[in-house]
Order: sequence, then C-alpha cells, then structure tokens
Amino acid sequence: MADRYQQFASSRVGRQLVRRLGLPNPVPLRRYRPGDPLVAGPVLVAGGGRVADAVLGVLKSAQVDAKTTVDEGTRYGALVFDATSITDSSGLRSLYDFFHPVARRLVTCGRVIVIGTPPEDCTDIREATAQRALEGFVRTVGKEFRRGATAQLVYVSAGAEGGIESTVRFLLSAKSAYVSGQVVRIGPAEVTTPADWAHPLAGRVALVTGASRGIGEAIAEVLARDGAHVVCLDIPAQGQDLSAVANRIGGSTVQLDITAEDAPGKLGEYLKERHGGVDVVVHNAGITRDKTLAKMSEQQWDSVLNVNLSAQERINDVLLGAEVLRPGGRLIGVSSIAGIAGNMGQANYATSKAGVIGMVRSLAPTLAARGGTINAVAPGFIETRMTAVVPLFVREAGRRMNSMAQGGLPVDVAETIAWFANPGSTGVNGNVVRVCGQSLLGA
Ligand code: NAD
Repeated sequence: MADRYQQFASSRVGRQLVRRLGLPNPVPLRRYRPGDPLVAGPVLVAGGGRVADAVLGVLKSAQVDAKTTVDEGTRYGALVFDATSITDSSGLRSLYDFFHPVARRLVTCGRVIVIGTPPEDCTDIREATAQRALEGFVRTVGKEFRRGATAQLVYVSAGAEGGIESTVRFLLSAKSAYVSGQVVRIGPAEVTTPADWAHPLAGRVALVTGASRGIGEAIAEVLARDGAHVVCLDIPAQGQDLSAVANRIGGSTVQLDITAEDAPGKLGEYLKERHGGVDVVVHNAGITRDKTLAKMSEQQWDSVLNVNLSAQERINDVLLGAEVLRPGGRLIGVSSIAGIAGNMGQANYATSKAGVIGMVRSLAPTLAARGGTINAVAPGFIETRMTAVVPLFVREAGRRMNSMAQGGLPVDVAETIAWFANPGSTGVNGNVVRVCGQSLLGA
C-alpha cells in the first residue's frame, strides 16, 4: 500500500505546507545498496572510554573517514560517543559537552551511537546509575534529531570490545534505516570475523519460515544476498509463490505446515539429510486472528498461539536436541511491538509475541553454551499485506506515530535479522531489537 502522505510531503508544494503547518515530515530513508559507502560522511568519535579504540579500528577496516576532533563546518555521517568512562552522574555532563555543539551537524539519515557498560555489570552503584541514565539521553536524541537520523545505545561488557564490528557496521549503515532508540547488549564471545563483509553468510544454510511473501520473502532475499543457501518454508497453499521466491534467490523449498504434529521431525530430517544441518533459523511464520477477548473463539486463540509460539518451541526442541542446528548456529524470532505494548483486539497475538521474547531470554544461555545465539526482532508498523488491511485511521496512526513519521519496509526487518545471523555477531545474544522507527507504542 503506497504511503500517499509521504509522496505528497516530498513534493515541492507538500514540503512547504509540511514546514508551515508543523506536520509530520517523513523524509525518504537512505537504504542499503551494494557498493554504497557504509556511512554518508565522516564519523566523529569521542569520549575516550575503553571501547573508543575498537570503534576506530572498525572504521579503519570499513574504510570510513574517522575524526577525533571537531572541524569547523564539517557535516558528519555519524557521531559515536564512548561513554564507558563515565563513573558517576556528574560525568554525564560530557554528553552535553560533546553533543550540544554538533547536534545540528549531522547529515540527513545520520547516525548516533552511544557506547556504555551494561549497568548490571557495574559493581559501583553510582557507575550503574550513570550508565543506566544513558538510555534516556539516547532515546531523546532519537526523537529530536529528526530527518531520518537514528540513535542507539550499545552496552559493551568488559572483554567484549573485540566483538563489536558487526554491530557497529550495522548501526552505522543504511541497513538500520528503521531501527532507532534501541538498546543493544554485546557480551564476551568467540567471534568469527567474516572474510568478506559483503557476503558474511557464504557457505551457510539458513531456514526461513513463512518465506513465500511479505517479511519472510525479504528475509530470504537478504540472507541469500549475504551468501547463504536459503531453505524457504511455507504452507502447501503458498507453494507457487514459495517456488518463485526460492528460484529467484537460488534457494530450495519445503512445503510444510509448521503446526503439523510431524513437522518438527520431518524438518529436522530434511535439513540433516540435504544439508548436514542448518546454521541460521528464522521463525518468521506468523498469523493474526483479531477479536477482543470477550468475542474471541477458542479456535482463534489456539491457532495464533500454536503458529506463533508453540510450533516454534517444538521445532527448536528438534533443532537443539538432534543437533540439527550446527555449533555456532543462530535462532532468530520475530516478535512484535504488540508483544511489548499489548494491543486492542490482539490478546492471542500479543501473548504469543511476548512469548517469543520469553523464548529468547530463556534459551540464550543454552545457545551461548553451543557458541550460538538467539535474538528477536520486534517489528512496528511494516508496509505488508498484513498492515494493508488495517482500517485507514489505525493505519495512518501506525505510520506517523514514530520518530521517522512513516512505516518501515520488510527489508528493514530482514537487514536486522541478517545482522543477528552474521558470524561476527556471536556476542549479540538474548537481545530483542525493535524495528519500529522508534514507535511511541510500548516505548
Ligand atoms: P504474512 O501474512 O504476509 O506472511 C506470513 C507467512 O507465514 C505467510 O506466507 C503464511 O503462509 C506463513 N504461515 C502462516 N502459518 C503458517 C504455518 N502454519 N506453517 C508455515 N507457514 C505459515 O505476514 P508478514 O506481515 O510478512 O509477517 C511476518 C512476521 O512478522 C509474522 O510473524 C508477523 O507476526 C510479524 N510481524 C509483522 C508486522 C507487520 O507490520 N507486517 C509487525 C510485527 C510483526
């Protein structure tokens, strides 16, 4: 469904009207195209904590122009502030001192990254307090900087400094166009640096459920672009669309209803026999059956819980129990902001999607012990068939009630999933990252 308001707001007349009346201004977001530079301008790095050197190392490896002092008149592609040296609340003043003079010097769709120490890792109470305070700062920057800018807080545990590259590259790049106001945690882990950052999944096998259309189709495309062989799964009724997707990306197809009793066993056998196992599994298949609780049938409750949560748990049991998921493997869930904020008419859906978050948190130690990870995305308003049928008023509210004043695209969810799947992201475990343009819902 075309966003007509955004089209109007980008026209000559529209731009003037939007400015005069103070209407939402959804600027076209910069999105990744192979061969584009990582960032749209020099990156200013400051703060001088324990992670700054690692950031400068990443920028060098990515051939990005890094600056450590402010130049008069320069517009920056990104501002990175290492706040790990802040040990009490008085130190928070350094945020103001750094950001105030450069707040208007960011290019359109610029990036802000603040790096901190996870408060739960701090033994000193004042340090834990100050580090937690960074969240409020970053979320506000996400709301204030506008013009497609994003702002994130990355908590890096001591000893995890060497594992930040995939995350810094993702958050600086146009791949994170619709991710803002997020808090990401990176823990110590053995990281495999991709030989080729353009094809980090070369030689890996990825399974994507619900891959025949919408967000699943975009996930399959992006993982294939990154070098993976993608096994595309969907229900038999979607067989034709599924084959079209798999043919386009050189993948293979599995027609299966994930809720069928024998589905986990069949899937496990298929992956073992055909591919010797699987490296990345994306549980994307999902359904809605909306009704307020008082009007909801048992069937509506059961089917949503089954597809969106219970079937995934049964498949995980086989993937982990029968060693189908190879060491270092990645499980990736697709939650929703409805699972964080709750949503009118979606008691079944919100319960299932909050359950996905529970699954991520409870399985994270199990995956870490195998050198792997489990994370989830929580999409906000994404332009798909699912959201095209939402009533007009609710749809317009969903599109505008976020810092980008527009809906996201399936590719935005897919790029975030590709970052979790990257072999360089082993330290990113147990995270739920919203792809919602910093939606006001559940914030
Ligand atoms: P969609 O309906 O276009 O696609 C879902 C796919 O899952 C379909 O191809 C469907 O056939 C498949 N599927 C459903 N039941 C299945 C089953 N039992 N076995 C195998 N495949 C099955 O939806 P979408 O908008 O692309 O959503 C994809 C995921 O993203 C879902 O988990 C959804 O809940 C989540 N999500 C979407 C949005 C959004 O704005 N579109 C927001 C938040 C979360």
